[in-house]
This record gives sequence, C-alpha cells and structure tokens, in this order.
Amino acid sequence: MNLPEEFLKRMEKKLGSEFPAFLLSYNRPPERGIRVNTLKVADAEILAPFLGESVPWSEHGYYLKDGNAGGHPFHAAGLYYLQEPSAMCAAPLLSAERGERVLDLCAAPGGKSTALAADMAGEGLLVANEYDPSRARTLLSNVERMGIKNCVVTNAEPSVLAAAFPAYFDKVLVDAPCSGEGMFKKEDAAIENWSEQNVRGCAVRQAQILESAAKMLRVGGKMVYSTCTFSEEENELQIEDFLRHHKEFSLIREEKLSPHRVRGEGHFAALLQKTAGERGNAAAFRARCDSSALRAWHAFEKCFFIAGESGLSGTPHLLADGRLCMIPEGMPDMRGVRILRAGTELGEWDGRVFKPAHALAMCVKGATVRHTELSDDACERYLRGETLFYEAENGWLAACYRGYPLGLCKCVNGTLKNHLPKGLRKMSKR
Ligand code: SAM
Repeated sequence: MNLPEEFLKRMEKKLGSEFPAFLLSYNRPPERGIRVNTLKVADAEILAPFLGESVPWSEHGYYLKDGNAGGHPFHAAGLYYLQEPSAMCAAPLLSAERGERVLDLCAAPGGKSTALAADMAGEGLLVANEYDPSRARTLLSNVERMGIKNCVVTNAEPSVLAAAFPAYFDKVLVDAPCSGEGMFKKEDAAIENWSEQNVRGCAVRQAQILESAAKMLRVGGKMVYSTCTFSEEENELQIEDFLRHHKEFSLIREEKLSPHRVRGEGHFAALLQKTAGERGNAAAFRARCDSSALRAWHAFEKCFFIAGESGLSGTPHLLADGRLCMIPEGMPDMRGVRILRAGTELGEWDGRVFKPAHALAMCVKGATVRHTELSDDACERYLRGETLFYEAENGWLAACYRGYPLGLCKCVNGTLKNHLPKGLRKMSKR
C-alpha cells in the first residue's frame, strides 16, 4: 500500500516505539463487522452463520464470518447493519436511552444512527441529519430498512439545524467528516485525497460543526465527537480547542482505537458534557391531517393489521405532497429545515386511494400483519421485482422471508403485484 510520506512521518512521531507494529497492521486485510439490529432480532442465533467473535466495545457487534451477508435476504429485511468494527465504538459511548431526544448531526450512511435507534428501542426522538443530499437519501433508505419508527431524517447544514433546535437535545453525536486516515486500508480515495493541507481544512470544518452541535445540546446533555482519523489536529487538539472556547463543557473521556492494538481500523471518540448554558424553547410541531386521509388510514389498518390497529405511537400528519406520516412524540416545529422523513411514513393519500408505504412494512413484525411467507426461490424473485402468484384474498400483504418483512405486495386475483421500491430491487442474474 502506498501510504503518503508525510503521513508516515507524522505517525512515527506520534507513536514512537509502537510505529513498527502500526506499519505491520497494514499487511492485514481490513476487519469487517456486523451489528445485529435489536429492533427486529430478539435472538441473534438466527444470524449465527454470519457472526464471528464479539466486538469488545459493542454489545451487539460481531466480526463478520465469511459469507455474502450484504446479499442475503436478511440484509434486505434489516436484521443487521454491516459496519467497520471500530466505527461501532461511538454510539455506545453516547449511550442513548429510551425516550430521549437524540441528534446524529453527520449521519450518512447511517451506521451510527441505526445503532442509536436500537439503543432508544423506538421511544423518544432521533433526528438523523446529513448535509450531502445524495448521501441523505442513502441514510433514509438505511433508516427505513432497519425499521426505525421514531426517526426524522433531515438534509441540512449544521448551522441551519442549530437555529431550529436551540438547547433541545439530550444527546448529540458529531461523527465528523475527516481526513479518513483510519480508512486507508479500505478506501484508496482516502489515500489519494490525503495532504497536510486537507487535514488542516478538515479541522477548520469540524470546529464549525462542533459550534453548531454545542448550541443544540441542553444543559446536562452529553455529546460524542468522533472521527476515523489519527491526526491530533482533528482529534485531541480539536477537543482541547473546543473546551478552551466552551467553558460550559467538560470532557468525560476519550477513546482511541488503533489497528495495531485492536481488531479494527482507526477511530477516535470523545465524550463531553454540557454543564451550563441557556435553556431552549423550541415550539412544538403542529400535526395536521384531514379527516378523509385519517379514515383511509384507519380502513387500511383494519384490513392489514391482524389486531385491526397498528399500535404505532405518534400523531398522524399529512404532508403537502400527500404522504401520511406518524410524527414522533415531542417533534418540534422545524420550519426552514429540509425534512426527508418525519417519523414513520404510513402511506400516500391522493384524496381517493390510500397506498401504504414500504417504510411501514419494514417497521412491523410479519406475524402482526397480513403476510405471505416466501420460499427461498420466491424471495429471490421478489427482491428482483418480479410478479409472483399466490392464492389469497385480494389486498395488501407484507412479503416475508422467515417471518421478516422485505416489503409490500398486493394480491389481485391470485397475482401478487410487487411493490418493492425500484431502487431496492436487485439486478437480475441473467
Ligand atoms: N455517521 C456516519 C455513519 O456512521 O454511517 C458517517 C458519517 S461521515 C464520517 C461524515 C459525514 O459528514 C458525511 O456523510 C459527510 O457528507 C458529512 N459532511 C460533510 N461535510 C459536512 C459539513 N460541512 N457539515 C456537516 N456534515 C458534513
């Protein structure tokens, strides 16, 4: 591997006698990890073929055993998230809890948001924000795949978000864009883009992001700042500088993972607490939904859910584009912020027909709804977007693989029309 000369010099100076071991670590292939999604999986035994040793710093994280975990239907069903093992350290450090207000400020593609959501177990409000529009769509897709109900996905600059959420959150994660030195083994682009100038540029940008993050944390709240790089300007010195300018924060602890000491790539995480400051006063969101949309939703609920109702918590809200969402409790007024998703998307209402959303199917248990259980072969075909045949009463069904929904289909006179979103369909092998 052709590592930048200046980078090597800096690492030698930083690590001293540990430098040879650090260099040797580049001869090992990158570690791959898998985190079980406890929102869907109660017993990880079902995933045993993929699970190697436990990742020491993540309760539900494992080293990935050989196997095509990314192409397996369980991946499409959101039973796990494939994540670099060291990257699993940041969310447990923040220890998000049920009922809290949690922000993941730099969230795409969603590795850490989906871990925070699992810790929150569907209760409270998770705002997952991503600044880059196309990465924000990937984040949205992962939030939906993992069946997260209480998440608002936004696409905003940190300073715009800060204006909407003054001193609002109990916990904030800043997994900052960085020079990615810890990713050299996995991404050639990280090596190509590396320069001392880029390290300094990243440090400036991170300081700006931290300023916005600090404003959004309530007094007593906790914040984790993390990067996947080794440079001190972006890590220890960044935190020192932040604390010098923010006397209302204190450092609880720092964690540094390095590939010559652990089975994983490089990661840095600092846990901070805000001990003083002003109180926030975000106005509550006012959900609105016309009665015809509500009636259509309830009629659908009656047919689709075995119990006749969804049991989803929150308040139905009809967006201007016809999407009906279940707004999580405690969502504030977010005027000025670009929202991609506000809680669970229930479906679309055009004034005549209610069409359920893929996201809804992904956050329910198969046994609680009308569903069809797919064989291995039918599952492959469903994931390719093919039409299937099935004798059932006409209407909407969840298409399940071993009890876990993959998406929706609609039975019309023995034909199962495939409603898996086009962007999620697998390419045909032919
Ligand atoms: N937390 C993510 C995860 O675990 O999957 C990884 C986040 S990645 C390290 C950093 C993210 O910050 C990227 O998605 C990047 O697009 C975003 N970003 C880039 N510039 C930014 C800026 N100026 N403000 C906020 N976020 C930015």
